[in-house]
Amino acid sequence: MAVHTPQRLILATRNVHKTAEIRAMIGERFEVMDVTAFPELPEIEETGTTFLENARLKAEGISRRVEGWVLSDDSGLEVDALGGAPGVWSSSYGGEEGNHAKNNTRLLAEMAGKADRTARFRCTMVLAQGGAEQANFSGTVEGQLVESLHGAGGFGYDPLFIPTGYDQTFAELGNAVKNTLSHRSRALQQVIFYLEKIV
Ligand code: IMP
Repeated sequence: MAVHTPQRLILATRNVHKTAEIRAMIGERFEVMDVTAFPELPEIEETGTTFLENARLKAEGISRRVEGWVLSDDSGLEVDALGGAPGVWSSSYGGEEGNHAKNNTRLLAEMAGKADRTARFRCTMVLAQGGAEQANFSGTVEGQLVESLHGAGGFGYDPLFIPTGYDQTFAELGNAVKNTLSHRSRALQQVIFYLEKIV
């Protein structure tokens, strides 16, 4: 009987929430690790001005230094009334990289009194090997911003975002529901389809 060894998929991220979501969605075919398993790897600077540029920098930069498939996720929130901000700068919008509480406080302040509350999450993923991009994928989820924080699940802007067709925020819906419709799950489904054809 053939023994099936899962393929290794290394995520070019230190964001524990992204890793947990991707691991939960990807199934047993792949062994998901992230760069926290490789402390010697350098921090990749996100100097791009688009999600794709930043996703490329991360995937190619890490895959130059580790064996096997590397997957990056660059993602963020685009708010129509703010001209698409915070966009690629979502993680430092409140002035401190990765501080979700400050990011949400700034977003609520910028949105005060605004009638148009439409927004979307966007996720761009790049698959790379040997320092070179092999393919890229994108997913979005449309929704509305609420006027105060709701819910304790998820991360980032999840307590402020109600996906279209629902009446609770991602943070209230929880990861099991979020993972069926999120920007990340929509990009990841394409990644899985691509990898299953060639791995
Ligand atoms: P990145 O690490 O440069 O891709 O920045 C991602 C940032 O976008 C996060 O720090 C969050 O602020 C926001 N973000 C991305 N995906 C999500 C999500 O699924 N829920 C809530 N916020 C998200």
